[in-house]
Amino acid sequence: MSPIIQKLVQGFNDFRNRYFSERQSLYTRLVKEGQKPKIAIIACADSRVDPAIVLQVEPGDIFSIRNVANLVPPYEEDDDKAYHGTSAAVEFAVTQLGVDHVVVFGHAYCAGIQSMIDGQEGAPQKDRFVHLWTSIAAKAYTRAQAEKPGAKGEDLARCCEKHAVLVSLENLRTFPFIKDRLEAGTLEIHGWYLDIAKGELSSYDAESKTFQPLKSL
Ligand SMILES: [Zn+2]
Repeated sequence: MSPIIQKLVQGFNDFRNRYFSERQSLYTRLVKEGQKPKIAIIACADSRVDPAIVLQVEPGDIFSIRNVANLVPPYEEDDDKAYHGTSAAVEFAVTQLGVDHVVVFGHAYCAGIQSMIDGQEGAPQKDRFVHLWTSIAAKAYTRAQAEKPGAKGEDLARCCEKHAVLVSLENLRTFPFIKDRLEAGTLEIHGWYLDIAKGELSSYDAESKTFQPLKSL
């Protein structure tokens, strides 16, 4: 067995002996009653931004949806053979689990958003799927350019990452089952942004139109 796989097996042994055994009753309840998370989090597949680790939650607390660049596509009604993985997960969370909150969990240094930027700047396509998927956030590039004319490199990337969170929030609102629950006041949607260099988490404030640091009470 390769050392890296051996490390995973050791990790599972540790999980089973400590974490799982300490939470035996929690797991038993979650199996018996099923999961009832109150929060769905749409996070990037990036190995550095696991929401369960960053937010220190317990099993059953959050329904995690992870994809490249934590994007939500717009609601689409295709004829057939369209595999809307993220839309399916959002639908399940909102209509079946009945979560009260949906959080779009953006982050700094996102390779997916960089791919979108490269695509907008006409760089040659390096992949089959990533550039198409990340083009969901193309509007973020236009808006970042408008907000920070002439911005390039890291400045542009950080600005695009934040605007991409807002594009995903807008796309969430295009799903009929989300729109209905927002109008009924039974669902809240949030845009968060994790700076993995500084270890800071901020939330989009619609009034000031800025991301503000989240602090515990
Ligand atoms: Zn990312």
